[in-house]
Amino acid sequence: MTASKGYAAQSATTPLAPFSFERRAVGPHDVQFEILYCGVCHSDLHVARNEWGGTHYPIVPGHEIVGRVTKVGGHVKKFKAGDLAGVGCLVDSCRDCDNCKKGLEQFCRNGSTGTYNGADKKSGGYTYGGYSNQIVADESFVLKISDKLPLEGVAPLLCAGITTYSPLRHWKVGKGHKVAVVGLGGLGHMAVKLAASFGAEVTMLSTSPSKEKDARHLGAHHFALTKDAAQVKALAGKFNFIIDTVSAEHNYNDYLAMLDTDSVMICVGAPPTPSQIVAFNLIGGRKSLAGSLIGGLPETQEMLDYCAEHNIVSDVEVIRMDYINEAYERMLKGDVKYRFVIDMKTL
Ligand code: NAP
Ligand code: ZN
Ligand code: ZN
Repeated sequence: MTASKGYAAQSATTPLAPFSFERRAVGPHDVQFEILYCGVCHSDLHVARNEWGGTHYPIVPGHEIVGRVTKVGGHVKKFKAGDLAGVGCLVDSCRDCDNCKKGLEQFCRNGSTGTYNGADKKSGGYTYGGYSNQIVADESFVLKISDKLPLEGVAPLLCAGITTYSPLRHWKVGKGHKVAVVGLGGLGHMAVKLAASFGAEVTMLSTSPSKEKDARHLGAHHFALTKDAAQVKALAGKFNFIIDTVSAEHNYNDYLAMLDTDSVMICVGAPPTPSQIVAFNLIGGRKSLAGSLIGGLPETQEMLDYCAEHNIVSDVEVIRMDYINEAYERMLKGDVKYRFVIDMKTL
């Protein structure tokens, strides 16, 4: 076991604070690395505050992790000490079921293990995430990180990047498609960058007028303010795809109305409260409402390689570890440009 330190919440209502714990000893297939940067995902906040239910305390959030390898087990082939490495939202799965064999470990029939709050099949208890100084994971769940891109901008690709890349690829979004992205936060800004880089015509749908200039700079061709009924009405029937990244309760029916015939709205945002869908909004125009969960390991590596090749990183605000509670409050207000990333030197 290795003594480790991090930041944890002890209950749904306590702020995150310094916390000491142990990581498992490096096994034959394990990679251990020093964490240099960890992105702050809205899921971290949902889980730290038990908004989805099922949080085990203490919770150390963080699943957008990059760092430098310090030690590898005897059977490890992909990494050696000194290499850059990353861990996203998963650290284990059965590797044997049909979904795992297809590289869809996020849908493992036997339950994949989340990077935090996951039932830890190796050490017992629950996994601790990336708001910490080091991590140990099986090499099959550790990603190769290019040295071409700034590491702090790469960290958010491990969740925000793959969560938007995966549905865009699955539905083959590209040239000739009109795509709307709802919510300009961590996921939203990556959806804009990736959809634009795949050749789609991108419209940003935001509640924040102050984000228009940035949206265009990120690659959006159009911007609409969803608080303005006239702008919303003008978008009726316009889009082939809508990627909804909103973290809080909102009316899905408003967006379904913006889909063209035979078009798809993809939910990646995961508000804690359920919503009502009016069936007529799907029936008229043969529309689909879909969802997507992060991405499997092979596709995560493909996305990282694509971003390295096309020079795509997240736009980040680097913060100190002890700023995390303020960062959460700002995230709740939509005041994120466009991902907080913790500099782990400050832990
Ligand atoms: P974020 O950075 O906080 O961005 C969310 C954005 O949604 C905000 O910046 C805001 O953008 C918009 N928004 C917030 N409240 C709203 C409301 N009441 N009505 C309309 N728009 C609102 O969050 P994130 O890290 O991108 O995560 C977004 C959601 O995706 C979270 O629920 C998270 O848990 C989930 N998630 C899902 C997956 C998956 O695999 N499916 C993976 C990661 C995260 P504007 O200011 O532009 O309106
Ligand atoms: Zn996430
Ligand atoms: Zn499986």
